[in-house]
Amino acid sequence: MKKKILVTGGAGFIGSHLCEKLLSLGNEVICVDNFYTGSKQNIINLLENPYFEIIRHDICFPLYVEVDEIYNLACPASPVHYQFDPVQTTKVSIVGAINMLGLAKRLRIKILQTSTSEVYGDPEIHPQPEEYRGNVNTIGPRACYDEGKRCAETLFFDYKRQHDLKIKLIRIFNTYGPNMHPNDGRVVSNFIVQALQNKDITVYGDGQQTRSFCYVSDLVTGMVAMMGTGDEITGPINMGNPGEFTILQLAETVIDLIGSKSRIIYSDLPADDPKQRKPDITKAQKILGWNPEIQLKIGIEKTIKYFSDVLNIK
Ligand code: NAD
Ligand code: UDP
Repeated sequence: MKKKILVTGGAGFIGSHLCEKLLSLGNEVICVDNFYTGSKQNIINLLENPYFEIIRHDICFPLYVEVDEIYNLACPASPVHYQFDPVQTTKVSIVGAINMLGLAKRLRIKILQTSTSEVYGDPEIHPQPEEYRGNVNTIGPRACYDEGKRCAETLFFDYKRQHDLKIKLIRIFNTYGPNMHPNDGRVVSNFIVQALQNKDITVYGDGQQTRSFCYVSDLVTGMVAMMGTGDEITGPINMGNPGEFTILQLAETVIDLIGSKSRIIYSDLPADDPKQRKPDITKAQKILGWNPEIQLKIGIEKTIKYFSDVLNIK
Protein backbone atom coordinates (compact mmCIF):
# COMPACT_ATOMS: atom_id res chain seq x y z
CA MET A 1 0.00 0.00 0.00
CA LYS A 2 1.27 3.47 -0.87
CA LYS A 3 2.43 5.25 2.28
CA LYS A 4 3.00 8.95 2.78
CA ILE A 5 6.45 9.27 4.30
CA LEU A 6 8.15 12.30 5.84
CA VAL A 7 11.92 12.53 5.43
CA THR A 8 13.51 15.37 7.41
CA GLY A 9 16.89 16.38 6.00
CA GLY A 10 15.72 14.87 2.71
CA ALA A 11 17.80 17.24 0.56
CA GLY A 12 21.02 16.14 2.26
CA PHE A 13 23.42 13.43 1.23
CA ILE A 14 21.74 10.37 2.78
CA GLY A 15 18.24 11.91 2.75
CA SER A 16 18.24 12.40 -1.02
CA HIS A 17 19.05 8.71 -1.60
CA LEU A 18 16.41 7.69 0.92
CA CYS A 19 13.72 9.83 -0.79
CA GLU A 20 14.61 8.25 -4.13
CA LYS A 21 14.46 4.75 -2.68
CA LEU A 22 11.12 5.32 -0.94
CA LEU A 23 9.61 6.71 -4.15
CA SER A 24 10.95 3.74 -6.13
CA LEU A 25 9.14 1.46 -3.67
CA GLY A 26 5.87 3.15 -4.59
CA ASN A 27 5.52 5.57 -1.68
CA GLU A 28 4.67 9.24 -1.52
CA VAL A 29 7.46 11.34 0.01
CA ILE A 30 7.40 14.68 1.79
CA CYS A 31 10.93 16.03 2.10
CA VAL A 32 11.46 18.68 4.76
CA ASP A 33 14.74 20.59 4.71
CA ASN A 34 16.05 24.06 5.55
CA PHE A 35 18.96 23.62 3.09
CA TYR A 36 21.56 24.27 5.79
CA THR A 37 23.89 21.65 4.31
CA GLY A 38 21.56 20.04 1.78
CA SER A 39 20.94 21.24 -1.75
CA LYS A 40 18.22 21.36 -4.36
CA GLN A 41 20.65 19.74 -6.76
CA ASN A 42 20.46 16.53 -4.71
CA ILE A 43 16.72 16.20 -5.30
CA ILE A 44 16.35 17.95 -8.65
CA ASN A 45 15.71 14.62 -10.40
CA LEU A 46 12.83 13.92 -8.00
CA LEU A 47 10.99 17.22 -8.50
CA GLU A 48 9.09 16.00 -11.55
CA ASN A 49 7.68 13.06 -9.63
CA PRO A 50 4.10 13.96 -8.61
CA TYR A 51 4.49 11.84 -5.47
CA PHE A 52 7.43 13.93 -4.25
CA GLU A 53 6.92 17.16 -2.33
CA ILE A 54 9.41 19.51 -0.73
CA ILE A 55 8.84 21.86 2.20
CA ARG A 56 11.49 24.41 3.21
CA HIS A 57 11.28 24.28 6.97
CA ASP A 58 13.54 24.25 10.04
CA ILE A 59 12.48 21.34 12.27
CA CYS A 60 13.40 23.37 15.36
CA PHE A 61 9.91 24.79 14.76
CA PRO A 62 6.75 22.66 14.95
CA LEU A 63 5.52 21.05 11.76
CA TYR A 64 1.95 20.02 11.01
CA VAL A 65 1.61 17.46 8.25
CA GLU A 66 -0.32 14.20 7.93
CA VAL A 67 1.95 11.25 7.19
CA ASP A 68 2.26 7.52 7.87
CA GLU A 69 5.97 7.30 8.83
CA ILE A 70 8.84 9.62 9.71
CA TYR A 71 12.55 9.26 9.01
CA ASN A 72 14.38 11.94 11.03
CA LEU A 73 17.68 12.88 9.36
CA ALA A 74 17.77 16.66 9.70
CA CYS A 75 21.11 17.62 11.26
CA PRO A 76 24.47 18.59 9.78
CA ALA A 77 26.72 15.53 9.89
CA SER A 78 30.19 16.71 8.86
CA PRO A 79 32.40 17.92 11.75
CA VAL A 80 33.20 21.14 9.85
CA HIS A 81 29.51 21.96 9.43
CA TYR A 82 28.19 20.81 12.79
CA GLN A 83 30.93 22.79 14.57
CA PHE A 84 30.25 25.96 12.54
CA ASP A 85 27.13 26.75 14.61
CA PRO A 86 27.33 24.30 17.52
CA VAL A 87 24.34 25.71 19.39
CA GLN A 88 22.14 25.18 16.34
CA THR A 89 23.51 21.62 16.05
CA THR A 90 22.44 20.79 19.59
CA LYS A 91 19.14 22.55 18.99
CA VAL A 92 18.25 20.61 15.85
CA SER A 93 19.29 17.35 17.51
CA ILE A 94 17.12 17.92 20.57
CA VAL A 95 14.40 20.49 19.81
CA GLY A 96 14.07 19.11 16.28
CA ALA A 97 13.73 15.59 17.67
CA ILE A 98 11.08 16.73 20.17
CA ASN A 99 9.07 18.33 17.38
CA MET A 100 9.25 15.21 15.21
CA LEU A 101 8.45 12.96 18.18
CA GLY A 102 5.47 15.18 18.97
CA LEU A 103 4.28 14.82 15.40
CA ALA A 104 4.67 11.03 15.57
CA LYS A 105 2.82 11.00 18.89
CA ARG A 106 -0.15 12.97 17.53
CA LEU A 107 -0.38 10.71 14.48
CA ARG A 108 0.47 7.47 16.36
CA ILE A 109 3.01 6.55 13.67
CA LYS A 110 6.49 4.99 13.50
CA ILE A 111 9.50 7.28 13.65
CA LEU A 112 13.08 6.34 12.79
CA GLN A 113 15.98 8.30 14.22
CA THR A 114 19.37 8.47 12.49
CA SER A 115 21.74 8.35 15.40
CA THR A 116 25.45 7.95 14.95
CA SER A 117 28.60 6.06 15.87
CA GLU A 118 29.64 9.37 17.48
CA VAL A 119 27.58 8.36 20.52
CA TYR A 120 30.51 6.00 21.23
CA GLY A 121 32.93 8.98 21.21
CA ASP A 122 36.59 7.92 21.13
CA PRO A 123 35.81 4.25 21.81
CA GLU A 124 37.75 2.09 24.26
CA ILE A 125 36.03 -1.07 22.96
CA HIS A 126 36.66 -2.32 19.45
CA PRO A 127 34.63 -3.05 17.39
CA GLN A 128 31.73 -1.18 18.96
CA PRO A 129 28.61 -3.20 19.94
CA GLU A 130 25.35 -1.42 20.75
CA GLU A 131 25.79 -2.19 24.47
CA TYR A 132 28.93 -0.04 24.66
CA ARG A 133 28.04 3.21 26.43
CA GLY A 134 30.73 5.33 24.88
CA ASN A 135 33.53 7.69 25.73
CA VAL A 136 32.39 11.20 24.83
CA ASN A 137 34.03 14.43 25.99
CA THR A 138 31.02 16.50 27.07
CA ILE A 139 32.81 19.85 26.67
CA GLY A 140 34.84 19.31 23.50
CA PRO A 141 34.14 20.69 20.00
CA ARG A 142 32.39 17.49 18.89
CA ALA A 143 30.05 17.45 21.92
CA CYS A 144 27.37 19.62 20.29
CA TYR A 145 26.76 16.75 17.88
CA ASP A 146 27.65 13.76 20.06
CA GLU A 147 25.66 14.89 23.08
CA GLY A 148 22.83 16.22 20.92
CA LYS A 149 22.49 12.80 19.30
CA ARG A 150 22.84 11.02 22.66
CA CYS A 151 20.07 13.15 24.15
CA ALA A 152 17.92 12.47 21.09
CA GLU A 153 18.33 8.74 21.80
CA THR A 154 17.13 9.35 25.36
CA LEU A 155 14.13 11.28 24.08
CA PHE A 156 13.18 8.51 21.68
CA PHE A 157 13.22 5.92 24.46
CA ASP A 158 11.35 8.20 26.87
CA TYR A 159 8.65 8.79 24.26
CA LYS A 160 8.41 5.02 23.92
CA ARG A 161 8.22 4.45 27.70
CA GLN A 162 5.96 7.42 28.44
CA HIS A 163 3.75 7.49 25.35
CA ASP A 164 4.19 4.00 23.89
CA LEU A 165 5.53 5.50 20.68
CA LYS A 166 6.74 3.20 17.90
CA ILE A 167 10.42 4.07 17.64
CA LYS A 168 13.32 2.83 15.53
CA LEU A 169 16.87 3.86 16.33
CA ILE A 170 19.86 3.23 14.08
CA ARG A 171 23.46 4.25 14.71
CA ILE A 172 25.07 5.07 11.40
CA PHE A 173 28.83 4.68 10.89
CA ASN A 174 30.75 6.73 8.29
CA THR A 175 28.75 6.60 5.07
CA TYR A 176 29.83 7.98 1.69
CA GLY A 177 28.74 8.20 -1.92
CA PRO A 178 27.24 10.48 -4.58
CA ASN A 179 25.41 13.63 -3.42
CA MET A 180 27.99 14.46 -0.77
CA HIS A 181 28.73 18.16 -1.13
CA PRO A 182 32.19 18.90 -2.63
CA ASN A 183 32.80 21.19 0.38
CA ASP A 184 31.24 18.77 2.81
CA GLY A 185 34.55 18.53 4.69
CA ARG A 186 34.34 14.80 5.45
CA VAL A 187 37.26 12.62 4.56
CA VAL A 188 35.96 10.73 1.50
CA SER A 189 34.71 13.82 -0.31
CA ASN A 190 37.79 15.85 0.66
CA PHE A 191 40.22 13.23 -0.61
CA ILE A 192 38.39 12.57 -3.88
CA VAL A 193 37.94 16.27 -4.68
CA GLN A 194 41.60 16.98 -3.84
CA ALA A 195 42.87 14.00 -5.88
CA LEU A 196 40.73 14.87 -8.90
CA GLN A 197 42.23 18.36 -8.88
CA ASN A 198 45.79 17.07 -8.24
CA LYS A 199 45.85 19.14 -5.04
CA ASP A 200 47.54 18.04 -1.82
CA ILE A 201 45.65 15.36 0.12
CA THR A 202 45.12 16.63 3.66
CA VAL A 203 45.66 13.82 6.14
CA TYR A 204 44.98 14.92 9.72
CA GLY A 205 47.34 13.45 12.32
CA ASP A 206 49.54 10.55 11.22
CA GLY A 207 46.71 8.93 9.26
CA GLN A 208 46.75 5.82 11.45
CA GLN A 209 43.27 6.51 12.88
CA THR A 210 40.70 4.12 11.41
CA ARG A 211 37.18 4.36 10.05
CA SER A 212 34.76 1.89 8.45
CA PHE A 213 33.13 3.21 5.30
CA CYS A 214 29.65 2.21 4.17
CA TYR A 215 28.36 2.94 0.68
CA VAL A 216 25.11 4.90 0.78
CA SER A 217 22.93 2.42 -1.13
CA ASP A 218 23.75 -0.28 1.43
CA LEU A 219 22.80 2.04 4.27
CA VAL A 220 19.50 3.07 2.70
CA THR A 221 18.53 -0.59 2.21
CA GLY A 222 19.17 -1.12 5.93
CA MET A 223 17.16 1.95 6.92
CA VAL A 224 14.10 0.78 5.00
CA ALA A 225 14.47 -2.74 6.45
CA MET A 226 14.62 -1.29 9.95
CA MET A 227 11.46 0.77 9.40
CA GLY A 228 9.72 -2.38 8.17
CA THR A 229 10.29 -4.32 11.40
CA GLY A 230 7.57 -5.04 13.95
CA ASP A 231 6.88 -2.73 16.90
CA GLU A 232 8.98 -4.82 19.28
CA ILE A 233 12.17 -3.91 17.35
CA THR A 234 13.36 -0.51 18.54
CA GLY A 235 17.14 -0.71 18.20
CA PRO A 236 19.58 0.79 18.76
CA ILE A 237 21.08 -1.06 15.82
CA ASN A 238 24.49 -0.27 14.33
CA MET A 239 24.60 0.27 10.59
CA GLY A 240 27.90 0.44 8.81
CA ASN A 241 30.39 -1.58 6.82
CA PRO A 242 32.74 -3.43 9.17
CA GLY A 243 35.68 -3.21 6.72
CA GLU A 244 38.19 -1.07 8.64
CA PHE A 245 40.81 1.16 6.99
CA THR A 246 43.34 3.70 8.19
CA ILE A 247 42.88 7.19 6.82
CA LEU A 248 46.25 6.82 5.10
CA GLN A 249 45.03 3.66 3.34
CA LEU A 250 41.98 5.58 2.19
CA ALA A 251 44.19 8.38 0.81
CA GLU A 252 46.34 5.85 -1.08
CA THR A 253 43.29 4.04 -2.47
CA VAL A 254 41.82 7.30 -3.77
CA ILE A 255 45.13 8.39 -5.33
CA ASP A 256 45.54 4.97 -7.01
CA LEU A 257 42.02 4.77 -8.38
CA ILE A 258 42.20 8.28 -9.84
CA GLY A 259 45.83 7.99 -10.96
CA SER A 260 46.29 11.37 -9.33
CA LYS A 261 49.51 13.37 -8.99
CA SER A 262 48.46 14.60 -5.55
CA ARG A 263 50.92 14.42 -2.65
CA ILE A 264 49.88 13.51 0.86
CA ILE A 265 50.45 16.27 3.42
CA TYR A 266 49.95 15.98 7.16
CA SER A 267 48.37 18.48 9.55
CA ASP A 268 47.20 18.48 13.17
CA LEU A 269 44.60 15.97 14.27
CA PRO A 270 41.41 17.82 15.31
CA ALA A 271 40.49 17.71 19.02
CA ASP A 272 38.73 14.53 20.20
CA ASP A 273 39.09 12.85 16.79
CA PRO A 274 38.27 9.16 17.47
CA LYS A 275 41.33 6.92 17.03
CA GLN A 276 39.44 3.89 15.78
CA ARG A 277 35.95 3.02 14.68
CA LYS A 278 34.36 -0.18 13.40
CA PRO A 279 30.78 -1.35 13.86
CA ASP A 280 29.78 -4.66 15.34
CA ILE A 281 26.81 -5.37 13.04
CA THR A 282 25.75 -8.73 14.49
CA LYS A 283 22.36 -7.29 15.48
CA ALA A 284 21.64 -5.85 12.02
CA GLN A 285 22.64 -9.17 10.46
CA LYS A 286 20.47 -11.23 12.79
CA ILE A 287 17.43 -8.98 13.14
CA LEU A 288 17.28 -7.48 9.67
CA GLY A 289 19.26 -10.00 7.65
CA TRP A 290 21.21 -6.95 6.51
CA ASN A 291 24.77 -7.01 5.21
CA PRO A 292 26.55 -4.24 3.35
CA GLU A 293 27.55 -5.45 -0.11
CA ILE A 294 29.58 -2.71 -1.75
CA GLN A 295 33.34 -3.04 -1.20
CA LEU A 296 35.32 0.12 -0.56
CA LYS A 297 37.05 0.23 -3.96
CA ILE A 298 33.80 -0.20 -5.86
CA GLY A 299 32.05 2.45 -3.78
CA ILE A 300 34.95 4.87 -4.12
CA GLU A 301 34.95 4.36 -7.91
CA LYS A 302 31.25 5.24 -8.06
CA THR A 303 31.86 8.30 -5.89
CA ILE A 304 34.82 9.40 -8.03
CA LYS A 305 32.56 9.23 -11.09
CA TYR A 306 30.00 11.43 -9.32
CA PHE A 307 32.54 14.08 -8.30
CA SER A 308 34.25 14.14 -11.71
CA ASP A 309 30.82 14.89 -13.25
CA VAL A 310 30.00 17.56 -10.64
CA LEU A 311 33.41 19.21 -10.98
CA ASN A 312 33.43 18.65 -14.74
CA ILE A 313 36.78 16.86 -14.69
CA LYS A 314 37.33 14.31 -17.46
P1 NAD B 1 23.85 16.18 5.41
O1 NAD B 1 24.45 17.35 6.11
O2 NAD B 1 24.17 15.96 3.97
O3 NAD B 1 22.26 16.19 5.54
C1 NAD B 1 21.57 16.78 6.59
C2 NAD B 1 20.34 17.48 6.03
O4 NAD B 1 19.61 18.05 7.11
C3 NAD B 1 20.71 18.63 5.09
O5 NAD B 1 19.93 18.57 3.92
C4 NAD B 1 20.39 19.87 5.90
O6 NAD B 1 20.09 21.00 5.11
C5 NAD B 1 19.23 19.39 6.74
N1 NAD B 1 19.02 20.16 7.96
C6 NAD B 1 19.96 20.54 8.88
N2 NAD B 1 19.39 21.23 9.87
C7 NAD B 1 18.05 21.26 9.60
C8 NAD B 1 16.92 21.83 10.25
N3 NAD B 1 17.07 22.52 11.40
N4 NAD B 1 15.70 21.68 9.70
C9 NAD B 1 15.54 21.01 8.53
N5 NAD B 1 16.58 20.46 7.86
C10 NAD B 1 17.82 20.59 8.39
O7 NAD B 1 24.25 14.89 6.28
P2 NAD B 1 24.03 13.34 6.01
O8 NAD B 1 25.36 12.71 5.93
O9 NAD B 1 23.06 13.13 4.91
O10 NAD B 1 23.38 12.90 7.39
C11 NAD B 1 22.00 12.68 7.55
C12 NAD B 1 21.72 12.18 8.96
O11 NAD B 1 22.43 10.97 9.19
C13 NAD B 1 22.17 13.16 10.04
O12 NAD B 1 21.21 13.20 11.06
C14 NAD B 1 23.45 12.57 10.56
O13 NAD B 1 23.69 12.88 11.90
C15 NAD B 1 23.22 11.07 10.36
N6 NAD B 1 24.49 10.36 10.22
C16 NAD B 1 25.21 10.44 9.07
C17 NAD B 1 26.42 9.78 8.97
C18 NAD B 1 27.26 9.81 7.72
O14 NAD B 1 28.33 9.20 7.68
N7 NAD B 1 26.84 10.42 6.64
C19 NAD B 1 26.91 9.06 10.06
C20 NAD B 1 26.16 9.03 11.24
C21 NAD B 1 24.93 9.66 11.30
N1 UDP C 1 40.26 13.52 7.92
C1 UDP C 1 41.48 13.73 7.28
N2 UDP C 1 41.52 14.65 6.27
C2 UDP C 1 40.42 15.33 5.85
C3 UDP C 1 39.18 15.10 6.51
C4 UDP C 1 39.15 14.19 7.55
O1 UDP C 1 42.51 13.13 7.61
O2 UDP C 1 40.54 16.14 4.91
C5 UDP C 1 40.23 12.52 9.00
C6 UDP C 1 39.59 13.00 10.31
O3 UDP C 1 40.55 13.61 11.14
C7 UDP C 1 39.07 11.70 10.88
C8 UDP C 1 38.69 10.87 9.66
O4 UDP C 1 39.40 11.46 8.56
O5 UDP C 1 40.09 11.02 11.58
C9 UDP C 1 37.21 10.89 9.35
O6 UDP C 1 36.79 12.24 9.35
P1 UDP C 1 35.33 12.71 8.91
O7 UDP C 1 35.29 14.19 9.08
O8 UDP C 1 35.02 12.17 7.57
O9 UDP C 1 34.32 11.99 9.91
P2 UDP C 1 34.37 11.57 11.46
O10 UDP C 1 34.38 10.10 11.40
O11 UDP C 1 35.59 12.10 12.11
O12 UDP C 1 33.13 12.16 11.99
